[in-house]
Amino acid sequence: MQVITVANQKGGVGKTTTAINLGTALAATGLRVLLIDIDPQGNASTGLGVGRNDRERSIYDVLLGEMPLASAVIGTCVPGLDLVPATVDLSGAEIELVEYEERTHRLSRAIERSDQHWDVVLIDCPPSLGLLTLNAMVASNSLLVPLQCEFFALEGLSQLLNTVERIRERFNPGLSIIGVALTMYDRRNRLTEQVSADVRAVLGRVVFETVIPRNVRLSEAPSHGLPALIYDFRCSGSEAYIALARELITRLPDTSPERT
Ligand code: ADP
Ligand code: MG
Repeated sequence: MQVITVANQKGGVGKTTTAINLGTALAATGLRVLLIDIDPQGNASTGLGVGRNDRERSIYDVLLGEMPLASAVIGTCVPGLDLVPATVDLSGAEIELVEYEERTHRLSRAIERSDQHWDVVLIDCPPSLGLLTLNAMVASNSLLVPLQCEFFALEGLSQLLNTVERIRERFNPGLSIIGVALTMYDRRNRLTEQVSADVRAVLGRVVFETVIPRNVRLSEAPSHGLPALIYDFRCSGSEAYIALARELITRLPDTSPERT
């Protein structure tokens, strides 16, 4: 089982869009995928068609109650893709967790204790480096960073990389960066090209070759409660996420279905 955190402390960079569509593309290859929504905004849950009234159990119960992970898992419209939804309760969790023992390891313990198995677990994080994101990083084998090619992209990234370094030292020495995905890519925009060249020069091969184009279908799909890959299989955004999934699979240790 590979646990991958999708994180970037900036909002609106494509974390949730990536978690939903990459999860869908991975599930389409036959992998068993679990998406854990750990953002109080619950956008990944909404985007997968799980309305607020359908979230009787959520990641909040797992982190702050003693609910086993499997009890909070629900199916989605995508075969092979399960979800642990998030509710607004979670917005208080950062503060409530402070009182708990092992507050940084709540998610990690829940995943370890789970008797259900997935090939890939994706965790969709809130736009901050608080306790929720920390729980995700402590629970993960690796980090996938969606990065929007804009002027301050590299500065935000260095802050994120410093945090990863500290988490490695203190909590999770095995945490790696599986890749940086350039999102909302606009080939006609010279700044995009410039920033992308800089990011590749600094980070090298950790940056995925696949870029995710700016594509209106990707932004329309969530309002229909569907991944773009189901809403419009042929749009450039869907194609890009299929390519990204392929590239990601080549970076995973061993994810052949049934074998892990
Ligand atoms: P985050 O989870 O990092 O806050 P989102 O994935 O929610 O970011 O994306 C922010 C907004 O941009 C959403 O409205 C989303 O639909 C839209 N969006 C994300 N990726 C793209 C893209 N490649 N092209 C066009 N719109 C996008
Ligand atoms: Mg989000």
